[in-house]
Amino acid sequence: MIRVIVTGAAGKMGREVVAAVSAESGMEVVAAVDPLHSGECLDGVTITGDLSEAIAASNPDVLVDFTHPTVVEGNIRVALSAGVDCVVGTTGLPVETLTELAALAPEGTCLFVAPNFAIGAVLMMRFAAEAARFMPHVEIIELHHDRKADAPSGTALRTASLIADARTSVPAAPGRETEIAEGARGALVDNVTIHSVRLPGLVAHQEVLFGGQGQTLSIRHDSIDRTSFMPGVVLAVREVGTQSGLVVGLERLMGE
Ligand code: NAD
Repeated sequence: MIRVIVTGAAGKMGREVVAAVSAESGMEVVAAVDPLHSGECLDGVTITGDLSEAIAASNPDVLVDFTHPTVVEGNIRVALSAGVDCVVGTTGLPVETLTELAALAPEGTCLFVAPNFAIGAVLMMRFAAEAARFMPHVEIIELHHDRKADAPSGTALRTASLIADARTSVPAAPGRETEIAEGARGALVDNVTIHSVRLPGLVAHQEVLFGGQGQTLSIRHDSIDRTSFMPGVVLAVREVGTQSGLVVGLERLMGE
């Protein structure tokens, strides 16, 4: 049995994680942490407020964190220093911070981070990187619910980074100097323009839009339900014990 502790357990993602891990064979939720919801019961587990105490009391193998960009670093520090492998879905932490945190981990402990746990999103990023080799003119439009804390999304940042690695030429991003309203041309990350949309009703969506001579190519992924992320989270919980150090991206666990 893989013993799992969930931080952010009462949040939109955390609730799905508790349900998905509880339903899976070979793993169990041994503790759930969410300071604002201490005392509430979720799938038979009582939520507590202090991560260090919860780790000491429940002896977990794996932490799954879907919290907030402002608290995730502290949670990872506590878990890694206790020798607990981490599966992190919270976005907004710079790669430099992740690298520093992984360096603190005891030998054999893994910090696994995925900007997107949905298989379709992993494929969308892969196809976008492939297309960028042949169609270097590209912009990203990411669309999320209106309570998302960070912008651009972690998925958009990762996509931009993969495109930057794959492109053999970098076309200019036109129209920036002549913007009439600031921000109209989006943010420039790794020389890729990203536009962030935030609206109620959305979950997590991204379109990667390529332009070429007389043609466009759109690669789009839509998470229409948060269960879309759960097979990826369950896979990471199963596999993180076989990894060590910093591992980024679900594709690293997909058997290729
Ligand atoms: P949410 O606001 O619904 O839930 C976050 C929960 O964390 C809240 O219940 C909050 O009380 C709790 N929390 C706050 N501080 C805490 C602490 N110190 N310890 C434990 N819990 C704490 O947010 P959400 O929609 O569930 O998203 C959470 C994160 O996951 C965001 O960063 C989001 O961008 C990310 N996300 C990632 C993926 C992915 O595939 N990687 C998918 C969806 C969302």
